[in-house]
Amino acid sequence: MMRRLYFDRDSARGVAGTYEWLVDEVKELGEALNARHRTELRKEFADVIAWLASLANLTGIDLEAATVEKYDNRCPKCGHLPCECKP
Ligand SMILES: [Zn+2]
Repeated sequence: MMRRLYFDRDSARGVAGTYEWLVDEVKELGEALNARHRTELRKEFADVIAWLASLANLTGIDLEAATVEKYDNRCPKCGHLPCECKP
């Protein structure tokens, strides 16, 4: 969806600029976590994943496939579901 929506604009901005936007959105998510405003928090989570998807699109990474490949219903470190790693 993000590719269809924004790939041309993301391509014009480039990887570095898109990464900077992602970092800004992560900071905004942190602020929303501190403010504890549920509606704002929801929007900030959406923004972070949207910019992450844009960056993945620009770098030719299939975000969903990469995530499933690494996590695939088990912790990549201990191999268990749920994770049994020591904190
Ligand atoms: Zn684990």
